[in-house]
Amino acid sequence: MRQRTLSKSYTFEGKGLHTGAFTRLVLKPAPENTGIVFERTDLGKTVPALSDNVALTTRCTLLSKDGASVSTVEHLLSALTGLGVDNALVQLDGGEVPILDGSALPFAAAIAADGLAEQDAPRRHISPSLPLEVKQESSGGWIRIEPADRFSCDLTVDFGSGVPGVQTVHWEEDGDYLREVAPCRTFVFFHEVQGLASRGLIKGGDVDNAIVIVDPSTPQAEVDSLAAMMGQPRLEVSPEGYLSNVRLHFPDECARHKLLDLIGDFRLCGGFIRAHVTAYKPGHTINSTAVKAVLNSIS
Ligand SMILES: [Zn+2]
Repeated sequence: MRQRTLSKSYTFEGKGLHTGAFTRLVLKPAPENTGIVFERTDLGKTVPALSDNVALTTRCTLLSKDGASVSTVEHLLSALTGLGVDNALVQLDGGEVPILDGSALPFAAAIAADGLAEQDAPRRHISPSLPLEVKQESSGGWIRIEPADRFSCDLTVDFGSGVPGVQTVHWEEDGDYLREVAPCRTFVFFHEVQGLASRGLIKGGDVDNAIVIVDPSTPQAEVDSLAAMMGQPRLEVSPEGYLSNVRLHFPDECARHKLLDLIGDFRLCGGFIRAHVTAYKPGHTINSTAVKAVLNSIS
């Protein structure tokens, strides 16, 4: 398969989920063998989307090089990978990719509408030749990677007896990324939002880009108090345990979002991975560990 890039440029603007900073992002076509490269136009520095540049993986994936950093890169990297974009330049005038609606859909829908431009060089595949497994003691999560001639993934999220419980998704690389994965939004837990709201760090509109997971036994009075703190109209808890600020696109949207994140984080191997990935309780930290293990195994 030959490399592909964007057929035109796209502009996105919005706030970052973690910094709250308003950022303008311009996504541009790039020459073959560029890969995905972030450019901080305010600093005049570039940060290639490569595992070596991963500096932090708490709550999002943050890349850093020569004093320039870009955080929350995973949803955009996922969209580019899911749609088969080999080369792109991502210009930002700030340090965080806008969260938009919390999914990869705004990026993916814009790119897919125009199609891609084919280039001459062959696609760069990363093909581990041996099975390997990484574990994260703190979360109990693990990721197993087995050689295969294409990418596929079985992913499980497990919140024990709590909401959203156990959800499993299966993915094949020729699946319909735009419809099945891209729309799935990030999620947070009610107590996390409560903590932020009580410190004045979050307002009503700020939860429109996340699914808020609530234990169904939470008293309505606590929900009312959160809505009041955020200046939000009345919120309710669905029987499945989600706050009524957003409607779920899929019953297993949380697991699908974790798949979205994994596809983005795995792009940091510097190409398209050819392997079967089994992931239990994945997150940015263990995803990053797995990518490093793959690269070590083939170097
Ligand atoms: Zn995410």
